[in-house]
Amino acid sequence: MSMHAAGGRAYLGSVIDRTMASGNPTALSPALSATMTVQATPDLLIKGGTLLDPVTGSTSQSDVLIRDGVITALGEGLSAEAVPVYDATGKYVSMGWMDMHVHLREPGFEHKETIQTGCAAAAFGGFTAVACMPNTDPPIHTRDVVEFIIERAGPTPVDVYPIACVSKHRKGESLAEMADLAEGGAVAFSDDGDPVQDTGLMRHALEYSRMLNKPIIGHEEDLPLGPKGHMHEGEVSTRLGLPGIPTISEEIMIARDILLAEYTGGHVHIAHISTANAVDQVRLAKAKGIHVTTEVCTHHFTLTDKAVEDMDFDTHTKMHPPLRTQTDIDAIKVGLKDGTIDAICTDHAPHASFEKEVE
Ligand SMILES: [Zn+2]
Ligand SMILES: [Zn+2]
Repeated sequence: MSMHAAGGRAYLGSVIDRTMASGNPTALSPALSATMTVQATPDLLIKGGTLLDPVTGSTSQSDVLIRDGVITALGEGLSAEAVPVYDATGKYVSMGWMDMHVHLREPGFEHKETIQTGCAAAAFGGFTAVACMPNTDPPIHTRDVVEFIIERAGPTPVDVYPIACVSKHRKGESLAEMADLAEGGAVAFSDDGDPVQDTGLMRHALEYSRMLNKPIIGHEEDLPLGPKGHMHEGEVSTRLGLPGIPTISEEIMIARDILLAEYTGGHVHIAHISTANAVDQVRLAKAKGIHVTTEVCTHHFTLTDKAVEDMDFDTHTKMHPPLRTQTDIDAIKVGLKDGTIDAICTDHAPHASFEKEVE
């Protein structure tokens, strides 16, 4: 087993408290977070942890010795001279994690976050790689912005993979120079933050997806179906008198994009799936051999729309897609278990507090 190697350097992976398995994450100790703020992992001996091997799915009791940023020994009872020791008793030790859906706010919104602070937050959480969405200013719609992000991320301890726009200026009107963007280092294309509302444009994007062998990541929301919605349309929104976003606005776009992927042979990746019916659609599409993959955000299988009410309309409970119902959560968990859902992500998208307060 090796930990995630980033840009030729090896990094300490993630050490999490074993209580996370029961849904109670605890903060990393100051000693460990100190090791995570440095760029290359120093010498370190992680002792007493339970090592997770994602390839075999097995766990073992094993210490990990890192020297000069490289794992040099695995095994029980390791010791080393003049190497700081981190006591990982009661914790899992894993490879670095990847978050394939984050919003780093640079360029353009550095008051919310920079590439450097976003990467520091990622590293603190045990992530050694992130893919970042293009709703910056300027958006990631030209090759120079792709290259700027890769360059800015260079000195950080996290590999950053830019996702470029589907459309020029992220306006949903004409296709961005997708081949040029891919050559510059874009790993996928998305207008995330907004859907690609124009079906013809999505068709062409998926045709390029096939040629370039890169996915189109769909923020699936048919805007006219829930134009002023702030939360899931259902019992709770009715009780609160708030305009809702119906599940159908997500599902209709997913159905469209699955059909387009089948027709074009392109690869559609459904971002932040949130409804039971959407999970069923993806499962069926995969069974038919259509090139579709999907991800789910942590909040979409841990919180329901009740949180909006319980937390007194706190803006932290409002997002797109919105928090749904227990039925949706149950279906998402089944989808995670049976492999319908391919990845868990965060949709990390920081706002400045003064902006949150007026939303
Ligand atoms: Zn989105
Ligand atoms: Zn997003």
